[in-house]
Amino acid sequence: MSADDFRIIAPEGAAPTAYGLPLAVLAELTHRCPLQCPYCSNPLELETSGAELTTEEWCRVMTELADLGVLQIHFSGGEPAVRKDLVALVRHATEVGLYSNLITSGVMLTKARLVELADAGLAHVQISFQGAEPGVADRVGGFRGGHAKKLEVARWARALDLPLTVNAVVHRQNLHQLPALIDLSVELGAARMEVAHVQYYGWALKNRQALMPTREQLDVATELVEAARARLRGVLEIDYVIPDYYARQPKQCMGGWGRQFFNISPSGKVLPCHAAETITGLRFDSVRDHPLEWIWHNSDAFNCYRGTGWMPEPCRSCDLREVDFGGCRCQAFALTGNAANADPACAKSARHRELFQLAEAESAATPEGFLYRNFSGGSRERR
Ligand code: SF4
Ligand code: SF4
Repeated sequence: MSADDFRIIAPEGAAPTAYGLPLAVLAELTHRCPLQCPYCSNPLELETSGAELTTEEWCRVMTELADLGVLQIHFSGGEPAVRKDLVALVRHATEVGLYSNLITSGVMLTKARLVELADAGLAHVQISFQGAEPGVADRVGGFRGGHAKKLEVARWARALDLPLTVNAVVHRQNLHQLPALIDLSVELGAARMEVAHVQYYGWALKNRQALMPTREQLDVATELVEAARARLRGVLEIDYVIPDYYARQPKQCMGGWGRQFFNISPSGKVLPCHAAETITGLRFDSVRDHPLEWIWHNSDAFNCYRGTGWMPEPCRSCDLREVDFGGCRCQAFALTGNAANADPACAKSARHRELFQLAEAESAATPEGFLYRNFSGGSRERR
């Protein structure tokens, strides 16, 4: 998706901004999930089921989204299939004209439910794989039997002619399975694969020592992906995200803060990125208190890092400030304590060299095992 994909909306009574509403939004229906991935992007303080938006509230939000011109809704979590009303939510999305994508671990789905979802108008399925075989995958996900179930669900999805994307989050403990993960995506009939190296905030930051790849692993993985892209042209499209710690220039995070994206949390908080709650001190507005259009234009959490006016040096005078918008705010906060600083992934950041050295040291460490993501605040892997 590019910046050109968003139309400008000038709401009545709202302070004028140069940012149109996104064409796609991420709806985190719940933080509940049977898996416990140690790199989960959900916040450390997970929202409980009692705080979640009701079916009626989500339906109202979807109607609002459609009225505003949003075209796509990505149902995510946690595990969205934990919600008993998932079929009703997908049906409502279809009724109001939203294209719906289900981002799922797969383990809560039955064949009958997938058929119901397809009948309700579900347009696309994205299944996450933690490895290419059960030994690694079930250990990383902290869920026995998960890998076999995912394979089954992926095959059901393709039998129903639902387009499939395979999500593979990669790190030091599963990168050796990348070739097999690519083969698996082809075998399952996926048209797209996302190979995303772990990004280190939230749960992943807690598990950095266990997950950080070596520089050599990263180089091998990058070559593998490039070769697979050439070999599988027309068969499998591969998106690739490298770990920031080994980068020289930061990624254009979320297409720029508050420019192209928002995320709705299970309780209705509207966030500029899925990890934004890791930045302490930001206040997020809720769909329970304001219309979405008002939030997009007026919420302090969006406006504080929009554009380039907020930037200190070295970003302020940098020619690339309108290209990468200073990188990732969450990473700047996690590593420097100030979200306004340049992302240390940038070679011009005073912390860049330190970050690179840290990555090398962490990748050589012998970790204690994973701290699994769960509602009790994380539990250590038993070895
Ligand atoms: S990353 Fe893992 S634990 Fe987090 S929501 Fe996805 S499947 Fe669940
Ligand atoms: S100095 Fe700031 S704007 Fe320039 S490349 Fe680095 S992070 Fe991007």
